[in-house]
Amino acid sequence: MLDEPGKICSEDTCVGCGACAAGCPQGCITMKEDSEGFLFPYIHTDACIHCGLCSRLCPQNQAVQKQKSTFYMSWHKDDAILMESSSGGVFTAVADWVLKRNGIVVGAAFDRETREVYHTIVESSQQLSRLRLSKYYQSRTSQILPDVKTAIKKETLVLFSGTACQIAAIKSYLGPLANSEYLLTFDILCHGTANKKTVEAYLHDRERQYHKTITDFRFRIKEGHDGWQLGSGTRMKLFFDDGTSQAQNKYLDTYFVGFNSNIFLRECCYHCRYCGQERISDFTAADFWGG
Ligand SMILES: Cc1cc2nc3c(=O)[nH]c(=O)nc-3n(C[C@H](O)[C@H](O)[C@H](O)COP(=O)(O)OP(=O)(O)OC[C@H]3O[C@@H](n4cnc5c(N)ncnc54)[C@H](O)[C@@H]3O)c2cc1C
Repeated sequence: MLDEPGKICSEDTCVGCGACAAGCPQGCITMKEDSEGFLFPYIHTDACIHCGLCSRLCPQNQAVQKQKSTFYMSWHKDDAILMESSSGGVFTAVADWVLKRNGIVVGAAFDRETREVYHTIVESSQQLSRLRLSKYYQSRTSQILPDVKTAIKKETLVLFSGTACQIAAIKSYLGPLANSEYLLTFDILCHGTANKKTVEAYLHDRERQYHKTITDFRFRIKEGHDGWQLGSGTRMKLFFDDGTSQAQNKYLDTYFVGFNSNIFLRECCYHCRYCGQERISDFTAADFWGG
């Protein structure tokens, strides 16, 4: 028997981080999509021993510990990396610093076959391209949390990146280990997250419009330096099976219009506890196009 969501924290505050699922000693919590396409924890009641650990691990059941920030405007010195990044490429600079110290980097990667976004571990600079670029829908994190704990226990330096609620999740999941000198956290400024179901519906709609099959897409492209330097260049790019592509600016592209107008975000994002100038991570990167 599967319990409906809402037992661990209330449904409208659940961020879908999966700390509860990763920490359950019985392995009896599954992250499943609800009817809108957002991930929620479902408890297999037959196996549950009612230990309450899931509720204690949930970051939404805990106070938020933020600290004051210092602000810098910066961009990557390597033009190629700058152009491959969503914004100034600060993520790659910090990630490379960690990799040079034999550390590992955790962040959101995109599976082009399944169109799933999921958190994964990268161990070399060459693999960092998997984590670069914003994927504007929620990444699955629960499966990676135990691997992060293992790495920190082995005294491997870890850079954990993601949205602020995902940083709250790893800290909560790690407990006292979160204070380890081997954990560095990096969040991206986030106004909210959507889901794969919405992206699929958008892509389907575009296929009907163009009468072609979409083979790949990028949420943000910087084509030429103009878009980056003028600050106006965010564009969605679609690649079709006949080898052609189509780029659309954020004011005309229906996904961006909806996403930037906060129409189809996860419920918890409308009352996010982690936003603001005080942050919960060691680093926060934000857009500064046209700076
Ligand atoms: C859902 C979402 C909403 C955002 N909203 C805003 C906003 O309102 N204002 C603003 O200034 N910036 C926003 N950003 C951040 C911005 O787009 C840039 O990603 C950020 O400034 C970092 O740029 P970069 O060039 O250093 O890194 P890049 O190399 O472009 O970004 C890579 C980093 O983004 C992380 N990442 C990518 N996709 C996801 C995802 N789906 N979930 C979690 N982490 C992800 C990777 O793990 C990695 O840490 C948002 C990003 C996302 C994913």
